[in-house]
Amino acid sequence: MSRGTHAVFNQSTPFVDINLFTANRALADALRFNHAGFDAARFAKLGAEMGSAEMQRHARLANAFAPQLRSHDRYGHRVDQVEFHPSYHALLAAALRHRLHGAPWSAAAGAHVERAAAFMLFTECEPSVLCPVSMSYAVTPALRANAAIYAEWAAGLASDRYDQRFLPFQEKTGLTMGMGMTEKQGGSDVRANTSRADFDGEDAWGRRYRITGHKWFFSAPMCDAFLVLAQTPAGLSCLFLPRILPDGTVNALAIQRLKHKVGNHANASSEVEFDAACAWLVGDEGRGVPQILAMGALTRLDCALGTAGLMRHALSLALHHTGQRQAFGRRLAEQPMMKNVLADLALESEAATALALRLARAVDRSENGQDASGHEARLRRLLTPIAKFWICKRGSHFAQEAMECLGGNGYVEEQGEGVMARIYREMPLNSIWEGAGNIMALDLLRALRAPEMAGALEHEVAPARHAHAVLDRSLAATLRAIDGLTEEAQARRLARDLALLLQAALLRQHASDAVFDAFCASRFEAAADVFGLLPAGTDVDAIITRANPAQMV
Ligand SMILES: Cc1cc2nc3c(=O)[nH]c(=O)nc-3n(C[C@H](O)[C@H](O)[C@H](O)COP(=O)(O)OP(=O)(O)OC[C@H]3O[C@@H](n4cnc5c(N)ncnc54)[C@H](O)[C@@H]3O)c2cc1C
Repeated sequence: MSRGTHAVFNQSTPFVDINLFTANRALADALRFNHAGFDAARFAKLGAEMGSAEMQRHARLANAFAPQLRSHDRYGHRVDQVEFHPSYHALLAAALRHRLHGAPWSAAAGAHVERAAAFMLFTECEPSVLCPVSMSYAVTPALRANAAIYAEWAAGLASDRYDQRFLPFQEKTGLTMGMGMTEKQGGSDVRANTSRADFDGEDAWGRRYRITGHKWFFSAPMCDAFLVLAQTPAGLSCLFLPRILPDGTVNALAIQRLKHKVGNHANASSEVEFDAACAWLVGDEGRGVPQILAMGALTRLDCALGTAGLMRHALSLALHHTGQRQAFGRRLAEQPMMKNVLADLALESEAATALALRLARAVDRSENGQDASGHEARLRRLLTPIAKFWICKRGSHFAQEAMECLGGNGYVEEQGEGVMARIYREMPLNSIWEGAGNIMALDLLRALRAPEMAGALEHEVAPARHAHAVLDRSLAATLRAIDGLTEEAQARRLARDLALLLQAALLRQHASDAVFDAFCASRFEAAADVFGLLPAGTDVDAIITRANPAQMV
């Protein structure tokens, strides 16, 4: 009951029951550009569901009630189970129902692009439950190297019926998989792995080993199986390690504890030990790193997609709030400097969406036999480190600025209701895991050593040639820089410059002229160190109108 002390006014309303797809013009245009035949009805349905009050409630609860480890039962037996809030399971079931995991591998051309856009939309609802979903999507190309296991697991990994039960894989309606590379002494440099795999015979799944050792980061330990790196006499090898063995025995994997993380609270990230755990070889002995990187390359795609989704969510919240909140006699969204900030954020968000979805198309085309010239495969190799590096690097900076648009309310979480704070805590993760920024930039240098890479970049940027003088100058300078570049210390600069060129070229093709012009004017001419530095004369109104969910619903 009100005590009559004051009325509450000039607070914005919750951003809820918004169709996140129909409200996102940038995503729709990028999706159409990369896959003209996309299923619009599927996206309208997904967008409504992801923006619904019910799904937002699940997202809040799954984060507020973080997973708990049950290491032992009350009699002292090891249990090694993680218990989740029912909302976590509801979200995961929705992710599988919307085919965000292994489904695209057995679908028609375009399925990877649709899945990528759907992944972005889901991220706007809740990103951290997508960790096992992403790994289950990414595992297929690596797992195919063991045809016997793949034959038995592929259907479960592509099933849209999530099954949370801890049962042997044959008894489940849907399966998920994770990955174990990082150990205490090294994550980027996995060659430092000490976990040992001892040969144990052969069976229907091929060469069987016993793994003894540990993993320092082992996310989603309730997945049904993992690809794990361990040392064999031939060197680091990739092995398939199920949590429950085909005969129903629980594998010798002990969950030591769950990490207490800055964000990503709905997802369980554990430390584990293997005590002669049973695993089967995937690919060639001693070739574990390239084998598991076939998986890592796709989770890197998801880092870029996820960050683009988080950016879009943060932008929507900023536009929504500033469109309602008044200060100094008018709405914040009408204040000239706030307009500059909002428009600049909108440019960044659309550029991230464009680059991430273009990478998804490169994956799709190169997987679906639509790449006779090999251009898409080359682009996929180049864009993976570029997009992962640059989009994820911009993410935290973006979240801070979007949070500031909400003032003090942006910094307040209030038992998970303050979604901006959750976004802010989640953002740095995509930049760190699956290869931190420097590792991505170094990987770009490696990728550029292959033949025809500079030509692939030139071809990709060609549609924007002569559209903006500054872009032409930057392209010429960057191509010169690539030629003969070996200096590691300059790799980040190169990754940034290439990302900006590719983003500009994409914006030219499927964003508005106002977006393209402002992007070129602001990203190439001056160091974009702070948002809100768009030069005088920028058509900020046109950019904001295009980005604003209020225009679309
Ligand atoms: C929440 C969370 C969940 C995770 N889940 C998993 C999981 O499920 N499975 C898994 O295997 N791993 C997982 N990881 C681990 C993650 O992939 C690693 O943390 C990451 O790869 C970095 O490895 P590291 O922590 O050992 O850091 P390091 O390798 O020590 O790197 C530290 C810093 O040094 C930089 N660096 C390294 N080498 C160079 C170089 N040559 N030149 C310049 N700079 C360099 C890196 O870019 C980084 O910034 C998870 C991490 C987090 C935070």
